Amino acid sequence: MHCMTIDLESWIHSDELLWFISPKDGKERKIKDNGHILQSTKEILHLLDLYKAKATFFVVAEIYDWYPSLVEEIKSKGHEIAFHTYNHPLPIEDSAELANQIKLSRRFLSRFKPKGFRAPLLNAKRSLFPTIKDHFKYDSSLYHYRTFEIDGIKEIPVSTMPFMRREPYFPKHLNLKLIAGEFPYGSGYCLGLLGKSISHLIKYEERKKRSSLIFFHPWQMHAPPPCFLEKKFLITNPKWIPYSSNIRKTIIHLLKNFKWGTIERLYGI
Ligand SMILES: [Zn+2]
Repeated sequence: MHCMTIDLESWIHSDELLWFISPKDGKERKIKDNGHILQSTKEILHLLDLYKAKATFFVVAEIYDWYPSLVEEIKSKGHEIAFHTYNHPLPIEDSAELANQIKLSRRFLSRFKPKGFRAPLLNAKRSLFPTIKDHFKYDSSLYHYRTFEIDGIKEIPVSTMPFMRREPYFPKHLNLKLIAGEFPYGSGYCLGLLGKSISHLIKYEERKKRSSLIFFHPWQMHAPPPCFLEKKFLITNPKWIPYSSNIRKTIIHLLKNFKWGTIERLYGI
């Protein structure tokens, strides 16, 4: 079994996609999102049902303020609800900022009691871990090729295929240092870049009796965010090109060919 994880956030929570607008608060972010998150998440839920798969949703708690019934629906279908901050700061600067994000999310946290945490951009500084441990049972904020323990908390990383073995470092996110030593095939970026070919890597790991953990964003499954339609955006930000392809067919292919469960179930957390 493998873990499919979804970072439940709007395209509007990604600052680089906001080059032409800068919403000042959550209300304005919801207006600019314009229901995009609802449509794309419903599509994901439909596919998970169709292939009898369970997933872990790392929820930006602001989405619960926007559409409480959407998060309730995810929970009622037996998927895992985990935490992805309140409004997705890029990145979380220090533990005081993380504590504030937790405070802002009180309503969400007391309703769902999530066990897992993931930092935006998978950018978690080492100094955040004592605060993560105080509130959660596991973290999933790094790219790595095996699980490990850090400051007394279990790390369930997004999958990589290592070219060289090395100890985890912090933050360990998508950048040149990472790809110099490992191929981060579990990233939403690689799903957009390689599509169905990702399944060869998952199969390879499966033969070695290892589970893969992948993640993607709802907006990758749906009509592209408005900024992708502005030609100037992709020309001036070519690194976003893999994110501009709709990964719906790839997700269907992965759902058909592998078994998927939640992190809490697979790792007995
Ligand atoms: Zn995110």
